Amino acid sequence: MLVYEIVRKKLDGEANTEEEIQHLVMGFVRGEVAPEQMAAWLAAVYVRGLSDEETWWLTKAMADSGRQIDLSAVEGIKVDKHSTGGVGDKVSIVVVPLAAAGGVPIAKLTGRALGHTGGTADKLESIPGMRLDLSEPEFIAQVQRIGCAIAVATEEIAPADKKIYALRDKTATIASIPLIVSSILSKKLAGGADAFVFDVKFGDGAFMQSLDKARALAEGLVRTAQLAGKRAVAVLSSMEQPLGYAIGNAVEVAEAIEVLRGQGPDDVRDLCVTIAALMLWLGGTVTNPQEGRSKAMELLGKGLALEKFRTLVAAQGGDPRIVDEPHRLPQPNYRATVTAPESGVITRIAARQLGLIAGRLGVSRLGTGEVDPAAGILLHCKVGDKVARGYPLAVLQSSRPIDPPIVREAQACFDTGEAAEKLPIIAQIIG
Ligand code: URA
Repeated sequence: MLVYEIVRKKLDGEANTEEEIQHLVMGFVRGEVAPEQMAAWLAAVYVRGLSDEETWWLTKAMADSGRQIDLSAVEGIKVDKHSTGGVGDKVSIVVVPLAAAGGVPIAKLTGRALGHTGGTADKLESIPGMRLDLSEPEFIAQVQRIGCAIAVATEEIAPADKKIYALRDKTATIASIPLIVSSILSKKLAGGADAFVFDVKFGDGAFMQSLDKARALAEGLVRTAQLAGKRAVAVLSSMEQPLGYAIGNAVEVAEAIEVLRGQGPDDVRDLCVTIAALMLWLGGTVTNPQEGRSKAMELLGKGLALEKFRTLVAAQGGDPRIVDEPHRLPQPNYRATVTAPESGVITRIAARQLGLIAGRLGVSRLGTGEVDPAAGILLHCKVGDKVARGYPLAVLQSSRPIDPPIVREAQACFDTGEAAEKLPIIAQIIG
């Protein structure tokens, strides 16, 4: 099979076959297809697109390029949840124990901070002793024993994605919906779940900033998962401002615990209940999403989700006392308050920029290259809130001294005006 001909077809707007896509992907992983040939094909896909079937074949080829986790030893319908990434996104920390408390087995592979977005693995590792580097047998045995586990995805999962993503990054072909769908879904399929809930973010702090593009990605993820024989639903949720009040590692764990207590910020709780309700429904423990909502609220109200979180933390070596005594989580050496330069209503909170600032404070490897578990930003306001001049809009925290310019940069992330509507968290549910 001539790679030249596979690339030529896509450049000319013709369809590729399953065998051609498989040949191209595996050839590239093995080093038999040259990067310039793959780059030309990716550019052709960026311009010409892929049909639903071609997207599925690409996803399959990428998922098949590495290790596939076999969850068949775990009883029940295994449901996974994926977020396209945001600022202050602690949803997984809440919904994994919440859905597991409702009887749905969850084997969650997760990632680390990327760009302006935090990573669930870095957040959970802020809990003293907590291990995310579970071996595959440990991971599966824990799901069998307590109903859930969260581990970092190893390099062996969908290695084709890693190689192709690096090439896309160099060739300005990241922003292609079928390429994003195959990248996300190949990793999820290799994780072995039977059904998926996708949290597709839109807005300033999201990967897909416009609602239309986020909707196209959500539809692509759901359709392709269905072609893979999986049930899938996508939630379109707003990242026009950070989610909740906490951005960071330990601070987000603390906020997630508040939500698991049935408290916490309204936006985080609403989104977590919606996603957990869909997971409970896909997992077959309730007959519809509405019933799922009631069950999720009940599990939160009775403290059962919090208990499951305590069990999850202890099972992975973490100190379960942090659940009742959050001061045991890493605390910052330095704090700096960001104040309102004028009175008014908060009209905008620049999520992406705050995510980057949090990264430089130590939340991700953007600063010193090391993750600081105590670093972060605690917001004291949301869009639509009224503030007076001098009001503390946010507190920056770090284990290292905080330079005054970063405080000024953070201050510029808040706009005030005459009036602003509160921003709804969920725009649409697809699937
Ligand atoms: N996230 C991924 O995992 N892949 C993409 O291509 C884009 C975002």
